[in-house]
Amino acid sequence: MTRNNTMMQYFEWYLPSDSTLWEKVTKDSKHLEHLGITSVWLPPAYKGSGGVNDTGYGVYDLYDLGEFNQKGTIPTKYGTKDEYLNAIRVLRENNIKVLADIVLNHKMGADELEEVLAIEEDENDRNVSLSNALPIKAWTKYNFDGRGDKYSSFKWNWTHFHGVDWDENASKAAIYKFYGKHWDENVDTEKGNFDYLMGADIDLNNFDVINELKAWGRWYLDTAGFDGFRLDAVKHIRAEFFPEWLGKLRADTGRELFAVGEYWSANINTLQKYMEKTNNCMSLFDVPLHYNLYRASISNGEFNMSSIFEGTLVEKNPDKAITFVDNHDTEPGQALESWILDWFKPHAYSLILLRQSGTPCVFYGDYYGIQEKDLAPKNEMLDILLKVRKYFAYGYQKDYFNHNNIIGFIREGDDEHPDSGLAVVMTDKEGGSIQMNVGRRLANTVFYDCTGNLQETVYVDNEGNGIFYCKDGSVSVWIKQGKYVN
Ligand code: CA
Repeated sequence: MTRNNTMMQYFEWYLPSDSTLWEKVTKDSKHLEHLGITSVWLPPAYKGSGGVNDTGYGVYDLYDLGEFNQKGTIPTKYGTKDEYLNAIRVLRENNIKVLADIVLNHKMGADELEEVLAIEEDENDRNVSLSNALPIKAWTKYNFDGRGDKYSSFKWNWTHFHGVDWDENASKAAIYKFYGKHWDENVDTEKGNFDYLMGADIDLNNFDVINELKAWGRWYLDTAGFDGFRLDAVKHIRAEFFPEWLGKLRADTGRELFAVGEYWSANINTLQKYMEKTNNCMSLFDVPLHYNLYRASISNGEFNMSSIFEGTLVEKNPDKAITFVDNHDTEPGQALESWILDWFKPHAYSLILLRQSGTPCVFYGDYYGIQEKDLAPKNEMLDILLKVRKYFAYGYQKDYFNHNNIIGFIREGDDEHPDSGLAVVMTDKEGGSIQMNVGRRLANTVFYDCTGNLQETVYVDNEGNGIFYCKDGSVSVWIKQGKYVN
């Protein structure tokens, strides 16, 4: 029997630095499969500049998966290399694909300083120079003394980067572009040119760098045996790089190697242009949808719910859309904070989990809560919606998006999934009802609200028509009575 695909982002920003995540996901893998999770996105697994406290995005050594004593620790924040490899193996044994987080825009935590000629650029317009070439001391030399030459003898120096944001000589923070280098073209145009994000920006025009990263990709795949990639910060990387890098790995391994890119922009045109430029070699996270959900959650009922999918990737390019509600960057206190309020989380998850289009990604911080910020786990609500996705969210979909507040949609179900089909009604303001037609397959049956929000039942007549309800500010998910989701 075919099942809907469902991804899970298996980490949040504020996890304790106790090196236990690989163990946790290993023990959790049967449970995840039971919930209907079909792929898991694991955090960056290589040693970061912050050692055991590094979330993984401050990449120091791509080849250190928690194996070498570097940055004051052998394990990473999430565990050791052996624990990581074991987690991947066990997840895959439980029919869950594994996506590795690939951070190739920058490196941090260099071992030594180098004197480099650099030009200070305007923070807000990186095409504008504020100085002539001047000597700075840049953290750009990577020796990897704890690893030596194992797996790769490549040592990074300033020629492999475009620039940095710190001059140790002057103890000054600024955007420094190395003399003789230019920012990549075909990157995001925010700040004039958004090639530079943080740390030592990797020069992805440099042939030695490109070859080293291709070799690393192959080594990483062969070593860890995962199934695909989540690509970090793609808007800061020239658009030609990933088609080449992914193309090489796909050709050499003969594997599909699914990839989803993080292009952080709420502008659908920007995302579509990027997909064109990269020859559709990757899916993208649906950032526009995230912001629609966010706005709906903070608008006190004044958001026009019938427009919730307007301008989103799942509306325009459903096959390439990875829909999500929140992630490690949108959490309270993080760089892209835009946290969807609790009351709207059931709405938001119903809108990604129960529909025909897009591949939804469930966030660890929603499922297990975020202790650091006193945000409670939402596993009870998510368990219900995930099971509804797994067993009932199939077949033809019809939308009833005709009102500012109350919207609904139905799935007719299909023959492959017994008793499948559903009706969803939600509102961001007063409760109410919508008459919807769930199709002939589900005619003459009684429906109940499996969220438990409403106790009443709904009778669907012999034409398939029923009047489905929801309470103020809530969502109700109606399925055939007698079918349980736990
Ligand atoms: Ca860059």
